[in-house]
Amino acid sequence: MMTLRLAHLYPDHMNVYGDRGNVIALRQRCLRRGIELEVIPVNPGDMIDWGSVDLAFFGGGQDSGQALITTDLIERQGPGLRAAIENDLVMLAICGGYQLLGHYFLTHTGEHLPGLGVLDVHTIAGKQRMIGNIVIEVDLGQGPWRLVGFENHSGRTFHGAGVKPLGKVLAGYGDNGQDGWGGAIYRNTFGCYLHGALLPKNPQLTDHLIELALRRRYGAKTELTPLPAERELAAQRVMVQRLIGRV
Ligand code: GLN
Repeated sequence: MMTLRLAHLYPDHMNVYGDRGNVIALRQRCLRRGIELEVIPVNPGDMIDWGSVDLAFFGGGQDSGQALITTDLIERQGPGLRAAIENDLVMLAICGGYQLLGHYFLTHTGEHLPGLGVLDVHTIAGKQRMIGNIVIEVDLGQGPWRLVGFENHSGRTFHGAGVKPLGKVLAGYGDNGQDGWGGAIYRNTFGCYLHGALLPKNPQLTDHLIELALRRRYGAKTELTPLPAERELAAQRVMVQRLIGRV
């Protein structure tokens, strides 16, 4: 049986709007293909062998939750996690987790939270929270399609030349409410503001992450067994229709 190992960063501090559902979706779509997904929670103080990890998930959180884990993230996990990301670790980071992979997050109370600095983005809180449903158009190599999710953040994330956009905002605010960016990609790391949880709502992305991780661990020719997702895709179409008026 093929196995993959997933590190879930700070599940007790960084888990809002059912972000944990992303890990459940990955595990289920692996299991249904006969792939075992071993989940390792990463809590403050834990030592992790990042070289043995295939996937990582980092959810969103309140500013206060983020402040509690930044030192551990940078000092304890930093060197190993950064090296793994440079070595194409497959990673998904949502909202607060996305912000903390960047250079820094300046909160609305003026607190400066340093980030891991592995994504070339920085985040500055605005006065107004950006809340609501969101649709972004993405193309992961097989033509454009839409990711649906829900966002709630004060942080506005701005991008440097070191990252590519994950997608283009069709409805909602996205990374900063100004330039149409919906998330960022660096190597195999994907960051965005879409809670939802994101992966249960968007099985195409779930499968893309699993495929990247399988190929990294078991070789570039590893094929992902096709798996239906009719209900998820029907729900996705309903939300796209509702939010942008066309499918
Ligand atoms: N605390 C951060 C912000 O408000 C992230 C919020 C979140 O993860 N939902 O911008």
